Amino acid sequence: MNTNESKQKLVLELEIIEKDLNALGRQLNAEGDWVIVPNNTPEEHADPLDEANQTEELAAKVAVLNVLEQRHEQVERALRAIENETYGICEEAGCPIGKARLEANPSATTCINHTA
Ligand SMILES: [Zn+2]
Repeated sequence: MNTNESKQKLVLELEIIEKDLNALGRQLNAEGDWVIVPNNTPEEHADPLDEANQTEELAAKVAVLNVLEQRHEQVERALRAIENETYGICEEAGCPIGKARLEANPSATTCINHTA
């Protein structure tokens, strides 16, 4: 399988996800964990009256962060599969992942029957 095109898409997607995470105050450390960007404390001058709103905003932000982090991990996993020459092979059972599925979602690492 020619994985060049998939790899390009995945690398681009990884960059976009990282940018989004950075914008939300997260950065990847040397260990590969997402940590809070230092000196990024927009909540510092919180008005107590806005606290309820901020709690909701924070919860929404955390939810977005979780989705982005999962997405990031999935894209990295697909990139590792390309490195290991297992790209396009279902992680669950070794069955082939359909071409159409990979085109629609280059970061897919399971076939349509073994979607988590
Ligand atoms: Zn499968």
